[in-house]
Amino acid sequence: MFTYTANPARIVFGRGTLDALPAEVRRLGASRVLLLGGPTLTGPVDRAAESLGATVAVRFDGAAMHTPVEVTERAVRAAAGVDCVVAIGGGSATGLAKAIALRTDLPQIIVPTTYAGSEMTPVLGETVGGRKTTRSSPKVLPEVVVYDVELTMGLPVRLSMTSGINALAHAVEALYSADANPVIDQFALESIHLLASALPRIAADPSDVDARTAALRAAWLAGSCLGSVGMGLHHKLCHTLGGSFGLPHAETHTVVLAHAMAYNAPGAPEAMRRIAEALDAPDAPTAVYDLVATLPAPQSLAELGLAEADLGKAAELAVAAPYPNPRPLTQDGIENLLHAAWSGTRPA
Ligand code: NAD
Repeated sequence: MFTYTANPARIVFGRGTLDALPAEVRRLGASRVLLLGGPTLTGPVDRAAESLGATVAVRFDGAAMHTPVEVTERAVRAAAGVDCVVAIGGGSATGLAKAIALRTDLPQIIVPTTYAGSEMTPVLGETVGGRKTTRSSPKVLPEVVVYDVELTMGLPVRLSMTSGINALAHAVEALYSADANPVIDQFALESIHLLASALPRIAADPSDVDARTAALRAAWLAGSCLGSVGMGLHHKLCHTLGGSFGLPHAETHTVVLAHAMAYNAPGAPEAMRRIAEALDAPDAPTAVYDLVATLPAPQSLAELGLAEADLGKAAELAVAAPYPNPRPLTQDGIENLLHAAWSGTRPA
């Protein structure tokens, strides 16, 4: 038996789709837009402001990493009288839009500019006084997602790689999820196949439009995996390392993925076989390790600033609360995994 709940979002995908924003706003029956962005990526938000013209009632450029509640509250106050939210940026801008939707029920149009995938999930992570809390509600799912390949052309190469491996991790863990289903399996396999070929091509030539298009399509599919089925050891470990040790989100995913896969491989042989096939390689964990090794991307937790002395504590935290995973978690096993990720050694 399996269950599958479709995400009803309308997807607009292509090059130059930012120009479709005014029509998408009208389609929602809206006419007073709250336009959201972050402080660094202002170009596309400027362009959107220009094409939306007088429809923009309020512009708010304060989106910040990890969605601090005080920023959300400021944006909600600024949003009095608007009837639609348009957010342009990475997971941080998307997070702000979702946090506003949770409080106001305003419809959202999200224009993602990284491969993080948050736009396809009902999950919202927020920080209150420096503490991160996560909740899941269908209220935060966007009504419309506009993927514009043009906006990803300038995504810096290193961020493209780590954000892409972050997406790969969503697809990998979907295949051995306790909630796995045949629809999401196909999304995951296609996403893995696309990313394995697109990321090296983007590293070699960041302006390769075909590779950028493949990566963005893969990010959409991977985000759907993340939004639809429960994730396992890899995501929990990265959450612990980010939340308790302050490690950066996408970089941590990039370093840990191959090691978490090597740990889980004995418990998920069929998923690993399918992942290896999608990667066109004999073994899935080593293929992911070798892929990351060829990219301009970090390879060890040491490089990300984690102290070796913290590995025991991290393992303890990661096994503290039980969750579904294809292989049972042991303190020793997770500590060994973390040691390998810390030093960046290739899985056996
Ligand atoms: P981000 O949104 O913080 O962006 C990182 C940096 O890249 C920012 O400075 C941004 O301005 C810049 N940037 C973004 N797109 C760019 C582009 N096209 N060109 C040039 N610069 C660009 O980072 P992210 O990795 O997209 O998102 C991470 C956040 O999203 C984290 O807070 C994470 O927890 C959250 N997240 C949530 C979910 C979920 O389902 N709730 C899923 C994935 C990530």
